This record gives sequence, C-alpha cells and structure tokens, in this order.
Amino acid sequence: MSTPVVKIENLVKRYKELIALDHFSLEIYEGEVFGLLGPNGSGKTTAINCLLSLLSFDKGSVEIFGEEMSPDNYKVKSKIGVIMQNVAVINELTVYENIDYFCGLYIKDKAERKKCVEEAVEFVGLEDFVKFYPKKLSGGLLRRLNIACGIAHKPKLIIFDEPTVAVDPQSRNKILEGIQELNRHGATIIYTSHYMEEVEQICTRIAIMDKGRQIALGTTEELKKQIKNTEKITVELMEQSAELLEEIRALPHVYEAEYIEGRAEVKFSGGKHNLIRLLTLLQQKDIRFGRVYSELPTLNDVFLEITGKQLRDS
Ligand code: ADP
Ligand code: MG
Repeated sequence: MSTPVVKIENLVKRYKELIALDHFSLEIYEGEVFGLLGPNGSGKTTAINCLLSLLSFDKGSVEIFGEEMSPDNYKVKSKIGVIMQNVAVINELTVYENIDYFCGLYIKDKAERKKCVEEAVEFVGLEDFVKFYPKKLSGGLLRRLNIACGIAHKPKLIIFDEPTVAVDPQSRNKILEGIQELNRHGATIIYTSHYMEEVEQICTRIAIMDKGRQIALGTTEELKKQIKNTEKITVELMEQSAELLEEIRALPHVYEAEYIEGRAEVKFSGGKHNLIRLLTLLQQKDIRFGRVYSELPTLNDVFLEITGKQLRDS
C-alpha cells in the first residue's frame, strides 16, 4: 500500500497518574474519511493534539505525509487544517477577517488568499455574515466560521474534533455534507465523535477508542461482523412467565433473552427466520403481543460487546 497520510505508533500520553493514551496506534490513508469514535474521555482530543505536536507525549512516534511530525515542521503543518472541539476564533475580528487571518498564516499572496477566503465563505454559507463579529453569530454559524478558518488554505489533511456537539440538526447536516464534499475534492479527513450515527454516516473506516486504547478497527460492516449480535427483536407482551422466557432462550440462534418492563428483548447470533420462529412460539402458546420490532446491530452494540459498557451518554 502507499505511504499512509498519518502513521501513529504506540503513542503513550500520561497526565500524572492518568494514562490518556495507552500504546495507541493508527494508520490513515489518502482519501479516507477516518472516524475516531469513543465516549467522552476516551482520548480522542489527546490523540489529535499529540498528532499535531501541540502536546508532548511520553512514548511513540507520529509521521504525517511520510515525515516525522514536530512542533516546528511548518511544511507539514501548512498541509493540515484543524477544526478544534472548542471554537477558536478571534472575537475582535469580523467573520471575513477571521478567515483571512487564519488563511494568511499559510498563504502570503494577497490575490490567492482573497480567492481562498471567498471560497471558504461560500463553502460554509456565511456570505450574508462576512461583516459580523463572532459574538453576533448563533452557535451553528459560529461552528461554520470555525470550519472556514480551518479549511481556507486548502489543506490536504483536515481534522475535525467533535464539530457537531451542541449544534442544531440543520447545521449538523450541513457540516456533515461539507465534510464529505471536502473529501470528494481530495482531502483526507479525520473525524472524531462520540455520536455513532454520524461516524457511520460519513466515515469510510472507523477506530473505536476506550480508555486511550484502540479497541476495534474497520469499516462499519467489518466492525459489526466482529460481534456475536446479528439481530435484536423486541416484542411487547401482554403476559410474561418464566416458562415462556426459557422457551424463547431455547429457540435456535438465541444467545440472550430478557424481560424489560413490558417487553421481551431477544438477541440472536445468525439465523434467517428468527422473527418468524419467535412469533410462531408466541402463537403456539396463545400469548398475546403488541408491537414487534427487529433491529440490526449498531456501533453501540460493537462497543457494548467489547467493553461491557454503553457508548451512549444516556
Ligand atoms: P475525549 O476527547 O475522547 O473526550 P480527552 O482526550 O479530552 O478525551 O481526555 C482523555 C483523558 O485525559 C480524560 O480522562 C481526561 O479527563 C484527561 N485529560 C485531558 N486533558 C487533560 C489535562 N490537561 N490534564 C489532565 N487530564 C487531562
Ligand atoms: Mg475531545
């Protein structure tokens, strides 16, 4: 395979007693929209900061575009765009001036810079707000400004650290679409999030993180194939008995069945006609039931099977 755009090997980062990154490794290739998925505190931002040499680390190595990364490797830095988790813009500058300022760190030629800034404004849809100061922008618009500042110099590698947290659904969709468009125009993307749906929606490959470690890696399909769960069926039951639960557990391919409130939740591993078998059993035993739904595994199920915990905050 070609040289990876990013190669992280055995990174260890300690904050005193706490190990924020625990022998963390990663390879990202040109053209990917690579997702780093993990709950809050799993080490995503620490990994990004180490990657960018914004933070020193205890052990390991980072290469970007085939070169060792260091705080003063400006050649590599000029090819990277970063959209930080916490919006980082200058309140004393207008929207246009902010983008021009960040773009100016990399592009000195005035005419070229003007073109880049205007394209960035258009890309994030801030044409009507160029003279506004950041304080006058809504949360969603501020996020878009943050993105414009990170991408105006047309970086080849763009890192988004949780860009949709606390963003309304409309701006969120615009951000996700924008990321895919940047990718179509040739940028390699790193996208961190604790929202599995977003990562599933836009990422070509995903690393799942927990406690500073990479616990799984692959495409969405590959990750889901790594686990036992292939289908979860939930049935609202009008009556429940211990005997029924035992009979459900004895059905082919069932590996877990429980009563939760008024429902039976049944997890299957493989099998083709699980729903029909389950409903046939209920019919044979003359048990009345309400709503029935079958769900395919999610990345939360992947996380749950590997760590024993829910990925979701709630
Ligand atoms: P994420 O971005 O996945 O939410 P972080 O990389 O921010 O996770 O944090 C990883 C772990 O390191 C967490 O336990 C967090 O509390 C801790 N941490 C992050 N920054 C610092 C810091 N400056 N000092 C001490 N601990 C920190
Ligand atoms: Mg973070």
